[in-house]
Amino acid sequence: MENATITLLKEKINQADALIIGAGSGLSTAAGFTYSGERFRRYFADFEDRYHFHDMYTGGFYPFESLEEYWAYWSRFIHCNRYMDVPHPEIFQNLKKLTENKDYFIITTNVDHLFQKHGFDKERLFYTQGDYGLWQCMTPCHPYTYDNEAQVKRMVEEQKDMQIPTALIPRCPICGKPMTMNLRADHTFVEDAGWHRAAKRYEDFLQAHRQGKVVYLELGVGYNTPVIIKYAFWRFVHANKQATYACVNLDPIQIPEQIRHRSIALQTEIGAVLRQLGGERL
Ligand SMILES: [Zn+2]
Repeated sequence: MENATITLLKEKINQADALIIGAGSGLSTAAGFTYSGERFRRYFADFEDRYHFHDMYTGGFYPFESLEEYWAYWSRFIHCNRYMDVPHPEIFQNLKKLTENKDYFIITTNVDHLFQKHGFDKERLFYTQGDYGLWQCMTPCHPYTYDNEAQVKRMVEEQKDMQIPTALIPRCPICGKPMTMNLRADHTFVEDAGWHRAAKRYEDFLQAHRQGKVVYLELGVGYNTPVIIKYAFWRFVHANKQATYACVNLDPIQIPEQIRHRSIALQTEIGAVLRQLGGERL
């Protein structure tokens, strides 16, 4: 473990006026929400046997022939990755300790609700890409989202032979078309009133901290949608000479030359870094 680097990051965070955290899928994976291996087989062995995909992500793209089967798959998926507890909650607990007594904001592309579940202030959180726990009309004919917890639970409990009962297929209460997950996959994504309020709060926070000692801490952000967090953080740090960019990722870390002298790269386990930053005293 690169102790000197972590000590430097801890100092920067302690001295900062504001901490802006950008979290990607690597954070959920580190907390134990893995999509493959034993966890996949435990919940999706029947789908693997029939369709020969080997992880939950790939299964999400499978063109199931009926809505009964589609929702058998997706209700299990949502149940696993939205309503279950993570195997390693200490990751979020340590991150939370890091934000105590700090002016902070979190932007995440994750749609699993883990920040809210671990007690982070909803007012300091912008989940840009949606939420597995919400449905919307597939068209969409109206810009509303609906909590799906009770219905997902019934679908999981009442499915047989990889089919949910037809009566449980979720339909739009306005137009009757099938519902879909409130996820940003294309232009049909519903940005509801809660989404707009969170977007505004994030924008206001960024505006208030364009200058001064700001730490941009990026956790497990990949290259699926780098524009939202990674490239934005690079631009903000470039524009503010007192800012620090910190990147924690298991994959090789790229940092533009212009901001390298104000950057901290930790190519290592997020859990280990947060344990040292938030949990244990250095
Ligand atoms: Zn509708």
